[in-house]
Amino acid sequence: MKACRTHALGGNPVPRTPNDRRVALRICLLACIIVLTQIPRSAHAAAESPLIRTNVSQIIALGTNASTASYDARFQGVIIYVSPPTRRLYVQEGDQGLQVNLTAPVASFRAGQVVEVEGKIADSLPLPRIIGARAKVLGERPLPEAKFSSAARFAAGQDVFRFVSVRGFVRDMTSDRNALTLLIAEEWRTFELAVQVSGTPLPREWLDAEIEAQGMAYPFYNARNQPNGFRFHVSSLEFVRVIRSGDGTLFDRPALTIAEASQQPWEWQRRLKIVGTVTAHQPLEFLFVDDGTGPMQANLMPPLPRSESSLGLEHDAQVWLQPGDRVEIIGVRRNWSSLTPTLIQAEFRRIGKAPPVAAQPATIADLEAGRFSGHLVSIAARLLDQRLWITGNVHHQLLVLQAGDHVFQAAWESETPADWDLEPGSYVRVTGVNDAMQGRFKGACIYHLLLRSPADVVATLEPPFWTRKEYQRIALAVGVITALAGAWILMQRWQMRRLERRGATRTADLRTANERLQEEVAARQRAEAEVQRALEEEKELSELKTRFVSMVSHEFRTPLGIISSSADILDAYLDRLSSEERHENLRDIGEATRHMSRMMEEVLLLSRVEAGKMTCRPAPLDLTKFCQRVVDEVTSATNARCPIVLHAPLSLPTADADEGLLRHVLTNLLNNGVKYSATGSPVDLTLLARNGSAIFTIRDCGIGIPEAEARHLFQAFYRATNVGERAGSGLGLTIVKRCVELHGGKIAFESKEGHGTAFTVELPLFPHSQSYS
Ligand code: ADP
Repeated sequence: MKACRTHALGGNPVPRTPNDRRVALRICLLACIIVLTQIPRSAHAAAESPLIRTNVSQIIALGTNASTASYDARFQGVIIYVSPPTRRLYVQEGDQGLQVNLTAPVASFRAGQVVEVEGKIADSLPLPRIIGARAKVLGERPLPEAKFSSAARFAAGQDVFRFVSVRGFVRDMTSDRNALTLLIAEEWRTFELAVQVSGTPLPREWLDAEIEAQGMAYPFYNARNQPNGFRFHVSSLEFVRVIRSGDGTLFDRPALTIAEASQQPWEWQRRLKIVGTVTAHQPLEFLFVDDGTGPMQANLMPPLPRSESSLGLEHDAQVWLQPGDRVEIIGVRRNWSSLTPTLIQAEFRRIGKAPPVAAQPATIADLEAGRFSGHLVSIAARLLDQRLWITGNVHHQLLVLQAGDHVFQAAWESETPADWDLEPGSYVRVTGVNDAMQGRFKGACIYHLLLRSPADVVATLEPPFWTRKEYQRIALAVGVITALAGAWILMQRWQMRRLERRGATRTADLRTANERLQEEVAARQRAEAEVQRALEEEKELSELKTRFVSMVSHEFRTPLGIISSSADILDAYLDRLSSEERHENLRDIGEATRHMSRMMEEVLLLSRVEAGKMTCRPAPLDLTKFCQRVVDEVTSATNARCPIVLHAPLSLPTADADEGLLRHVLTNLLNNGVKYSATGSPVDLTLLARNGSAIFTIRDCGIGIPEAEARHLFQAFYRATNVGERAGSGLGLTIVKRCVELHGGKIAFESKEGHGTAFTVELPLFPHSQSYS
């Protein structure tokens, strides 16, 4: 069916005259044959192209699928733009438009006509287009409302082939017989806007003016089908409107110093003008200038291309500027990542020559910190490597340099390559413009030097070793280690002193504690000794009491018994007893009484001695005679039981002695010698004078004293266990010792049980005859 309709549409008109009927019949027959033979092919064609698209959005919905080339389309829409050179119409339906490539010329078509379009759908970017098309004008309609769009959207392939409006600032213009082309800046993007007007004079007043234009964007794609820019087409000058008027001139505007320009607010419309001396230039890309108030970077905007026949503004030739060239620059004040104040969308005009800008010496730390950005700087560095590559006829040369710890680059671009005859690792001084940028990461500064000429790289001497980083680092390390070691030693000393102080304090504390402890120990020992002494005294007293009781019970009972029995005998048998017997009893009574009285005397004497009532009153005494007298008295008193022999020197000086005390001493010792010896056993009294002392030795051959009891002998009432029935009070030796001590002398004895005893008494009786022997 479709094939038939298509055929009918494209077929010849039906014949009207009767003469032609036969011919017509033949033709009809021929046509029938052709139709019949064509049926299978038409059916096949219907299978290939079954649909006619009648709606732009349906066509667009097919996308950019290559298979759509086999579809036919028929739709209606309003022409929004006509391109005679390419035989293209741009037809919009609703708010979407398509490119229609006609087979016939398009001169008769105008924007605003409603057309019916027939053709094949071909894939294209970003939308399908209609090719091999025919269009039929159906009427006129006002153009669709121009929605506001932007260069950013066009660049992304959006809002293309449809009637939209854009705004921007006019930066350049050319005019030829086809169009008036404007270079429009929408913020930092620039694009070409072509108005379909032939050979119009340049609207100079539009330079830097803000305009709004209604038209259609035509996108470009690169070989990889990526959006590659666009051109905005406007049908006539009626569709261009000036919103804010511009300067109308390129360079005839007042100039600011670079310092002033750097402080200017960022504003898209205004292009500032500065005048400066070139320090670095890369044609069509950027320019660095300096006017003494500071550096400025200019990002150059390539002017619109011009043909011989076209009109255009008076741009300077884009020559390679030399350092020292003086230029005027206009541009919009705006900085992206560059640390140098920048003019973008800039162009320059060379106005003469000036002395080249002097380089400033800089350190790598300056460059790292982003200082001297845009300035011409000079720095010493070590050459690590070189690189050279060529694009077109431009040689790009890159030096990789090291200063301190940092590696950076210096770039030189020229049509004639530089031949630096430098060894890797050699030292150079490089001079160039510091092109510094702020890195994306906080604080990072990315920089490289732009060389102006090959003479900007000069071989230099290796810096003294101590200025080199490695040595400085070693010196720093040594310094740090020394400082640390010093600090450590000082700390150790301080620690030691602290420990010493603490030790001294602790020693003093310990000493004090020790002294206190010793005092406590001594006090405790004293207390213990006191207690011990008290205990011993107590014990001694107890023993004394025991010994006293034992002595009294033993030594008094016997004489009392004798007295009692003798008295009883005398009382009962007085008449029957002979006078001898009566005398004997009376003698026994008298003997016992005397014995008891002696005992009592000794007790009294001891108590006197102990009470301190006895004193030593020395008087001149003839010792030999005195001793003889005492020997005699004792011999008599003991009824001469044992012979007592006196051994004394013939002549002795007169002693100074207390006779009473001396008598007690000698009498007691001699009595004991007799008492504890067998009858007839000799007792010797030896008298000696030595070193001013008289030495009395009383020796017997009696029972002796048991060794274990010897130390108790001078205790009151103590009697050795071997005394047997020998009477005694145990007080004699105690009294003797006290008397000897009262006389300032000493007493000692030697004894062996069963063999005898020797008491030695040493008294200082010859104070004036020390050496007497
Ligand atoms: P006593 O009245 O018992 O003799 P002393 O005080 O004179 O008392 O003597 C104390 C003790 O010393 C005596 O009981 C005796 O055991 C001992 N003694 C003293 N002299 C002698 C000695 N010459 N030979 C042996 N023992 C002696």
